[in-house]
Amino acid sequence: MPNMSLKKVPMPEQDSKIRTKNFSEVALGYTEEQAVEEALRCLQCKHKPCVKGCPVNVPIPEFIKEIAAGEFKKAYEIIVRENRLPAICGRVCPQESQCEGNCVRGIKGEPVGIGRLERFAADYYMKNVKNDVKEVEKNGKRVAVVGAGPAGLTCAGELAKMGYEVTIFEALHTPGGVLMYGIPEFRLPKALVEREIENIRKLGVKIETNVLVGRSITIDELFEEGYQAVFIGSGAGLPKFMGIEGENLNGVYAANEFLTRSNLMKAYDFPNSPTPIKVGKNVAVIGGGNVAMDAARTAKRLGAENVYIVYRRSEEEMPARLEEIHHAKEEGIQMKLLTNPVRILGKEGWVTGMECIEMELGEPDASGRRRPVPKAGSEFILPVETVIIAIGQTPNPLIRQTTEGLDTHSWGGIIVKEETMETSKENVYAGGDVVTGAATVILAMGAGKKAAKAIHERLNK
Ligand SMILES: Cc1cc2nc3c(=O)[nH]c(=O)nc-3n(C[C@H](O)[C@H](O)[C@H](O)COP(=O)(O)OP(=O)(O)OC[C@H]3O[C@@H](n4cnc5c(N)ncnc54)[C@H](O)[C@@H]3O)c2cc1C
Ligand code: SF4
Repeated sequence: MPNMSLKKVPMPEQDSKIRTKNFSEVALGYTEEQAVEEALRCLQCKHKPCVKGCPVNVPIPEFIKEIAAGEFKKAYEIIVRENRLPAICGRVCPQESQCEGNCVRGIKGEPVGIGRLERFAADYYMKNVKNDVKEVEKNGKRVAVVGAGPAGLTCAGELAKMGYEVTIFEALHTPGGVLMYGIPEFRLPKALVEREIENIRKLGVKIETNVLVGRSITIDELFEEGYQAVFIGSGAGLPKFMGIEGENLNGVYAANEFLTRSNLMKAYDFPNSPTPIKVGKNVAVIGGGNVAMDAARTAKRLGAENVYIVYRRSEEEMPARLEEIHHAKEEGIQMKLLTNPVRILGKEGWVTGMECIEMELGEPDASGRRRPVPKAGSEFILPVETVIIAIGQTPNPLIRQTTEGLDTHSWGGIIVKEETMETSKENVYAGGDVVTGAATVILAMGAGKKAAKAIHERLNK
């Protein structure tokens, strides 16, 4: 009998007053009983609209059926047929606009908690089942992957499963890309990301860290070394700045730097960890996406008293996930909406405040969102000692500058054929944020998977 409750089984989470004092995960995950109860809300629809909403087509009703029957290991095995990083996707995918956005139970109530169930199955497997990933027999062909983010890891994993000898070259000292340096511990525990990466290593994938492709070695040199194809999954890690007065003052960070210090270098544990981080009592975070929410919630945990999100449109237009906005508000993050920074003020080289102007919404722009227009004479000063800029990122120019024959858009993204992820350069493929600009983990994974298939077809012609 299906469970006809209109609401999802709530997921236990840390109390908002306690969690702002630590970096542990906020959402605690379902118990076995809760997972079964939620799984029983799925109607096992024949036409599976939820699957169409998933960029990697996880067989959703199939795995949920196994959870409802208490067959948790089987559920996991069904998911990993299509998705190599389920513990991560279950936590960070914007399900509301993908699988859950298509779920029929969402028409008259809340959709089935597909993300929560995916997470449950992955966590259950990690905790209870001895990992039996086996190396497959090699086919003697070598592929190089640039970047160990979700796009590169997925492409590498898929190719290794088909017998290729795959080496990932990663610029940082730790693989994972944004999963390690961007998304904070309280949303995505790093030990878990490490375990998922370990599973990909067990497939036979080699990961060489501290290799900056374009400096340490070029794409052409990779071919000279015997690699027969290259996949570029180098992401969009170059921060955009506002270009306003005062941006070089001490106390101004790009969100990228702020989050890398805190997540990758564990500055929240300073001095046990050698990297410092400085946060004032009052912090302004400029932007309205996931990156802004993560930076604001991190600043709060680092001891800031007042943390403001300064966003030039209204809450409706915020690109951040609903759950993250909700969590940020619960944690006391203050929303300064329809507000735009004009300049950053300082004294003796340090930030003392930020001059802002109020905005109102005008006609829709090219993106379909209503364009914010400044309200004359509404300037005011927000007293802050720290400003974190989170208004977007673009691909780093290094690879395009050092690779002849690689066509890119004017904004820096690599141009690919949509069906195969092939670039303009022979046997070079690309996918993830380096192609789309800042997007999502699952889209990066989907691109990695598609490229792996195309590389396999090409090398077997
Ligand atoms: C703070 C933050 C929060 C986010 N929250 C979410 C979320 O909740 N849900 C969601 O779906 N998405 C979220 N995203 C977006 C998501 O993380 C990205 O879309 C995704 O990680 C892109 O994957 P990728 O593999 O293309 O690139 P990346 O994850 O950026 O990985 C690229 C890797 O390539 C390496 N690299 C770059 N250049 C070179 C080079 N020249 N040589 C060698 N290595 C190189 C980088 O060091 C990096 O490890 C968030 C992003 C950020 C920054
Ligand atoms: S749409 Fe919803 S109810 Fe239908 S199969 Fe998918 S998850 Fe189950």
